[in-house]
Amino acid sequence: MGTTHILGYPRIGPGREIKFALEAFWRGEADESYLQGVGRGLRARNWDKQSEAGLRFLGAGDFAFYDQVLNMAALLGCPPRRFGFDTDRLSLKDYFALARGSADQPAMEMTKWFDTNYHYLVPELDPLTRFGGGPDWYFDQIREAQLRGTAVKAILIGPVTFLYLSKATEPGFDRLRLLRPLAEAYARLLERLQQTGIQWVQIDEPALCLDLPPEWLDAFDRAYPVLAGRAPNLLLTTYFDSVEAYADRIVRLPVQGIHLDLVRGPSQIKKWATTLPQDWVLSAGVVDGRNIWRADLRRLLASLHPLHEKFQDRLWIAPSCSLLHVPVSLENEQKLAADVHSWLAFADQKLDEIRILGSALDSGENAVASELDHSDALQKSRRENARVSNEWVRKRLADVSADMAKRANPFGARILKQRDRLKLPPLPTTTIGSFPQTQQIRSARGAYKRREISALEYLERIRAEIRTAVERQEALGLDVLVHGEAERNDMVEYFGEQLWGFAFTENGWVQSYGSRCVKPPIIYGDVYRPEPMTVDTARYAQSLTEKPMKGMLTGPVTILQWSFVRDDQPRKLTAFQIALAIRDEVADLEKAGIGVIQIDEPAFREGLPLKRRNWESYLDWAVHAFKLSAAAAADETQIHTHMCYSEFNDILPAIAAMDADVITIETSRSKMELLDGFGQFSYPNEIGPGVYDIHSPRVPSTDEMTRLLERACGVIPPERLWVNPDCGLKTRGWPETEAALRSMVEAAHRMRKRLDISKPIALSA
Ligand code: GLN
Ligand code: ZN
Repeated sequence: MGTTHILGYPRIGPGREIKFALEAFWRGEADESYLQGVGRGLRARNWDKQSEAGLRFLGAGDFAFYDQVLNMAALLGCPPRRFGFDTDRLSLKDYFALARGSADQPAMEMTKWFDTNYHYLVPELDPLTRFGGGPDWYFDQIREAQLRGTAVKAILIGPVTFLYLSKATEPGFDRLRLLRPLAEAYARLLERLQQTGIQWVQIDEPALCLDLPPEWLDAFDRAYPVLAGRAPNLLLTTYFDSVEAYADRIVRLPVQGIHLDLVRGPSQIKKWATTLPQDWVLSAGVVDGRNIWRADLRRLLASLHPLHEKFQDRLWIAPSCSLLHVPVSLENEQKLAADVHSWLAFADQKLDEIRILGSALDSGENAVASELDHSDALQKSRRENARVSNEWVRKRLADVSADMAKRANPFGARILKQRDRLKLPPLPTTTIGSFPQTQQIRSARGAYKRREISALEYLERIRAEIRTAVERQEALGLDVLVHGEAERNDMVEYFGEQLWGFAFTENGWVQSYGSRCVKPPIIYGDVYRPEPMTVDTARYAQSLTEKPMKGMLTGPVTILQWSFVRDDQPRKLTAFQIALAIRDEVADLEKAGIGVIQIDEPAFREGLPLKRRNWESYLDWAVHAFKLSAAAAADETQIHTHMCYSEFNDILPAIAAMDADVITIETSRSKMELLDGFGQFSYPNEIGPGVYDIHSPRVPSTDEMTRLLERACGVIPPERLWVNPDCGLKTRGWPETEAALRSMVEAAHRMRKRLDISKPIALSA
């Protein structure tokens, strides 16, 4: 019988059981045995599902209470030394202290897992790091799976990826110096797995999908021979992109098979079909582990048949990557439109797809004829659905001309007219958009959603919030005001709910980090804006003040990046459709008299492909999408954009090409280091480097912010500088927000005096 398997499963549970259990445990309302019970229950459910789908293996070792990379560090006995924990007796309490910080130690740093929205904790290594002597949790879970009587495949993050994703805590320390002892620690783990009767280990090396520097490629040649000694069979597992470029080296590694992501890297199969070593298995990752569409089973089988003929039992069938990145089950979705529902497959449903593919290869397509017919019918219904394909949207996109993505005049001309209109002081102060989402706001939104209050009453409550926000900003003396985003639960959902082509699930949660989950919208069809989305709010807010009110929109790239995107057309076309909808909103805001419009693109950088050679084409279309959304604005309308969460220096030319009049960016955590890049590159337009970190309740002093502004003035000509926090303030409370903004405004005043640019400023542009 052919081998079917999966690389990992969501561990949050169908009703986010893990979240509620973790949070109860952290609040001290549940004890450890309760939490362990929930963990066992979730693992049992996941294995039941895998058994029901008749998978050849149960996957074990992918469960984590917080994060799989942290688990790996615990298993290797190398949690950050600064916590001073006893590594062999690491308790669950210690484990959470690593993840969330303790009284005297900040939490481990968190960063994105490749190009996903999942965040892992970054292991910390130094010359004194030793491996070995971790807790037994991992082996306990392997045993738990083995007791079920089905063959178990153990899942581990591989040594090179682990090392690559770690950081050195001492400057200049080359973590590759730890490769040898790390590989030996892995060898011990593998030997122990072999003693428990494990025959296959899935060893994840997604780092192979990056552009690896030569010394990191060599690390594979150095580490794997150390592992190979007394290990079970190793399935070298790659995902998120192709590893074709390294195939000729990979085949020399002492492993027994390779897993390929044939969704992200479909063309690599040609190369692998001819180079696969005689004794290796080939695990074909054909079902998309990153998206929620049902697979076109007939098409997949057509591509699998030749491989099956060639490799027979050596061909394994799997999803492209771990199913961690998709929601758990469609069974909990009662409100989705029936057609959209029928086109989707979440983790549970993907198991069934793997089962069907496996049976078709084993026993012929006739054995699963009805399943395949059903799959064909659903593909057809999706292709032909009138809401998926909207003639008007298609025609409009086809008619987009190059000049639609260009402002009428260059920045130098626009800014003069904007200054004339807005009459701002030098170093103008503003905020990024959202103000504290108080309990009061959340309960109004909740009551409205549950239809406990009328639309009119809801509107009144939101307007009251806007009024308070405006009054507070006036009292603080800010220069460009915002309405505060009280009506928005989430910056993508708010727009998606008003656009055609979007669907929302009730329970389509995906883990972001720890207990945090996100529920991305699903873009299934052509995007169309039936009516204005923010104009009433912006107009009302502007009516309350003489100061300029900034309209607040989410940009096309961010909307795309934080949604599950349709896979039946290139992503860029979907981005352009969203851009046209935002473009219409910009035009309507402008007509309503709004003179400053911010189009947020916090996720702009995270959409970058893993491999550098694909950057240019992404940046081209992403910049185009942004410009398409912004460029209809008249010269005197000031377009802002905002970006955060990332390192921008390597994409500065693209950021400049977006041609926003003002960009506000997150910089304060790096003490403005980031700004140096903008200075060296001579970023041409105006820029507001965040002067304080909104992620912490700490109120920074005026002195502190003045010093940051001084630094900024040294890098960017002061006449092009803005003063603002790092990001939106929605997660903060009002007291600290007001205190911090008061100091910020004060810092701006001090700087203005010092620079003696109290008169309207001349332009260097
Ligand atoms: N305007 C949004 C806010 O202020 C921007 C959020 C973000 O950058 N993630 O909340
Ligand atoms: Zn931000």
